[in-house]
Amino acid sequence: MTALLKAENLEVAFGGVKAADGVNLSIDEGEFVAIIGPNGSGKTTFLNLCTGYVRPVSGEVWLDGKPITAMAPRRIARKGIARAFQIPQLFTEHTVIENVMLALAAHRGIWQAFAPLDRPDYRAEAMALLDLLKLADHANAMAGALPEGLRKLADVTVAMALKPRLLLLDEPTSGVSALERFPLMDTLMTAMRAQGVTALFVEHDMEIVETYADRVVVWDSGSVMAEGKPSEVMKDPRVLKSVVGA
Ligand code: ADP
Repeated sequence: MTALLKAENLEVAFGGVKAADGVNLSIDEGEFVAIIGPNGSGKTTFLNLCTGYVRPVSGEVWLDGKPITAMAPRRIARKGIARAFQIPQLFTEHTVIENVMLALAAHRGIWQAFAPLDRPDYRAEAMALLDLLKLADHANAMAGALPEGLRKLADVTVAMALKPRLLLLDEPTSGVSALERFPLMDTLMTAMRAQGVTALFVEHDMEIVETYADRVVVWDSGSVMAEGKPSEVMKDPRVLKSVVGA
């Protein structure tokens, strides 16, 4: 089976720092893969390499067996990789549903002012997605007025409106209270499964990783140090030392 995403020998340096130092990673369709690792180990750089925001000095990234390494971010997005950020990237002065409709229009290549975007077909499709992400009651709220947990869900709704095959999530539970984390992840996972989206998420909360990830990949000094089922990888003394500091 061809991997949905495959990265081979990616290398990139910023000044003297090797942010990617021979990264090799494969993700299969339907997997939920967590990335863990200390700050500065290159996790975000990897997401940037997959989405075209950082170009490697060497190595290759393939989506569904086709190279995407030299492509511009917009083209990669259209090929099926979307991203939701640690700090949601919503238009805060617009309503939640307007943000989703804009993404639906952008996916179709119509990049216009807001007024023509408010069409009944976009509205219906946006509402269906908001319903899936349990945000229907907040459709007409200003995106900037949402509490953090709901803003994260809105950011993912916008990313899902781009019809991705692979969704990259940068710390989906950061800034969210401990009580809200599991319901938030339940909603995200259910929605992604319903839409057939594969996910790669950077996460610091080990309980979240153990509960939701099919596989965990451990980053250290710009490359993959270990990977496997969370329950097994978490027993690896090298992982405990690097990530938990034990
Ligand atoms: P992580 O996400 O694991 O915290 P990052 O990928 O953000 O790690 O960073 C890896 C290393 O690369 C760090 O030393 C960071 O300072 C450096 N780095 C990342 N992006 C840039 C950039 N755009 N310019 C300069 N240095 C960068």
